[in-house]
Amino acid sequence: MTVVTRFAPSPTGFLHIGGARTALFNYLYAKRHGGKFMLRIEDTDRKRSTEPAIEAILDGLRWLGLDWDDEPVFQFARVDRYVEVIEAMLASGHAYKCYATNEELAELRAAAQAENKRFLYDGRWRDRDPSEAPEGVKPAIRLKAPKEGETVINDLVQGEVRVANAELDDMVLLRADGTPTYMLAVVVDDYDMGITHVIRGDDHLNNTFRQIQVFNAMGWALPAFAHIPLIHGADGAKLSKRHGALGVDAYRDMGLLPAAIRNYLLRLGWSHGDLEIVSTEDAIKLFDLEGVGRSASRFDMAKLENTNAHYMRESDPESLIEAISPMIEAKIDRSLSVAETTRLSTGMASLQQRAKTLLDLAVSAEIYVDGAPFSQSPKAAKVLAGSDAGAGLAAALSALSGIPDDAWNEEGIEAALRAGAEVVDLKLGKLAQPLRAALTGSDASPSLFEVAAVLGRDETLRRATVAG
Ligand code: GLU
Repeated sequence: MTVVTRFAPSPTGFLHIGGARTALFNYLYAKRHGGKFMLRIEDTDRKRSTEPAIEAILDGLRWLGLDWDDEPVFQFARVDRYVEVIEAMLASGHAYKCYATNEELAELRAAAQAENKRFLYDGRWRDRDPSEAPEGVKPAIRLKAPKEGETVINDLVQGEVRVANAELDDMVLLRADGTPTYMLAVVVDDYDMGITHVIRGDDHLNNTFRQIQVFNAMGWALPAFAHIPLIHGADGAKLSKRHGALGVDAYRDMGLLPAAIRNYLLRLGWSHGDLEIVSTEDAIKLFDLEGVGRSASRFDMAKLENTNAHYMRESDPESLIEAISPMIEAKIDRSLSVAETTRLSTGMASLQQRAKTLLDLAVSAEIYVDGAPFSQSPKAAKVLAGSDAGAGLAAALSALSGIPDDAWNEEGIEAALRAGAEVVDLKLGKLAQPLRAALTGSDASPSLFEVAAVLGRDETLRRATVAG
């Protein structure tokens, strides 16, 4: 059996972090088993589905590297097929026409409410002769659901979950206006797309009972089901915008790397021993549904950032330069010169050790742009305003000016500054602190000797002179 999974978002908003995790689990499960990962856009709700939302979802999935197989399936384009299936159910006696009016249904609903009961349609047209149909009323078509016994889900995450069929009413398959319902469409699609594993949020568990009844009515084999617990915020409440439940594009804007997000989302609900860092390549070898826990996971932005910092450190420096160059260029409003890009290449190995996000990295890399620093951190400003900053900088300048071009490297710079400090009988720090502030505008940067080496003689001397 070839495994076929699917991600089936409703395009009523952006691709949020919970949806991205569902997509990831489906993707990994399919890849692990050499199967297919399909995408289905559930756009039957015409009022709430939008073209920009579809674009945002496709874009978000592509950016996350969760490429799907085949063309996406759009539910709205398949209405004829749903109607065909409903007609087959009518013909086989698994569905019936219901002529109950809106007023009747409202009465039933009000009666249930008065007794504090859940509203269940009472099946008043289930066994009635169609000849009793009122004139001019368009019927809805309902599932003739089993009344006795139980419906059981053998869920690969939740275990066995059962409900008495008496708890489920005859749901509508086709509305009186001729539109098929979402619950029917999902089943027909899963069947037609050959889906073998339905992996989705456990908020769909209740839908699954009804969907199983439709599968059974059609005599179709059930797919395997795996309902994954939802993601909660750090405070344990269901994830909302307040907790950072943003669109995937927002995480991109925060400067997070797709590989880091994939790793973080994988661990948000799945575990394998105490593995924390799992590349997608490894995840494809390891992912299984046994490793998915039964309790809700908590979204933790700090952990996501730490995971990101790890992937920043591991990234190919050139890919980071490619990612941050446009950010720096937008800020300085011009292109980076070849010399500046070369400095970024030379300095990247250190810079990438210290940045949590691409945004951090872009800011810290600004030190290698001509004319920087563009601002001073409060600590750096304080150092430069100190009474002995001028003497320290002057000593540093004179020591650095004496370095010949071919000795302008970390060791040469360090040696010259140490010797220069001795000449004026100051501690090295008295030269180094103001020099670092002058070169970087900050008190947190890669080593001073490295920064000066990467900047080159002219730019270093220029910044020291300007600050002095
Ligand atoms: N369209 C549903 C949603 O966005 C998912 C349905 C499913 O996975 O079966 O929540």
